[in-house]
Amino acid sequence: MENVEGRRPEVFAELITLFDNGYPAQNAYYIQLKQFLLKESDLDEDDICELLIDLHEEIAFGGDFDDIFGLFSDEGFFFSMESSKRLASILQGVMNHTRTFYNCGYTPSALHKVMLAGKKPSLPKTIIPMSAEAAKLMEQAKPDIEKLGVKVDLDAAAIIPASGKDKKNRKPGKVYPNDPCSCGSGKKYKKCCGR
Ligand SMILES: [Zn+2]
Repeated sequence: MENVEGRRPEVFAELITLFDNGYPAQNAYYIQLKQFLLKESDLDEDDICELLIDLHEEIAFGGDFDDIFGLFSDEGFFFSMESSKRLASILQGVMNHTRTFYNCGYTPSALHKVMLAGKKPSLPKTIIPMSAEAAKLMEQAKPDIEKLGVKVDLDAAAIIPASGKDKKNRKPGKVYPNDPCSCGSGKKYKKCCGR
């Protein structure tokens, strides 16, 4: 899987997967984590997908290991010592193979290889936030990112809901697919009124 990380058509396919699922659903490390959670937790597949989306966002925006591990303790999971160790090692793999915003879209392991090889990393052309929170961070970093020749498109994934179940309660403005739905269901917009 290593040699896939720097190649454009595969990177593009990965971005599509990311847009459809909210996390890199075809990444072997995420698959491993999903299987672990199906086996070791009481969560159903939908809950696990929600958790993986949160996890991906946390990692992509620079969360450290404690933040990431905290997502699991916040859920009130109880794992045996043996399972906790296994979870920690799976998460390490997930973290090392997630493209992060701060690494210009490289995974830590791919960036390390590029730097060892003395090559200039090839950067994505445009980056697009999937949640209002991500948009806020990208907006702050926009001048620095654009200096690298990467365009930041804050609106590409944003939706201004024209109608929906939540019409009455909706606040004016932009909604991103991974934002909490304004109807108060607690689900992501794209999984609720944005469907
Ligand atoms: Zn809703």
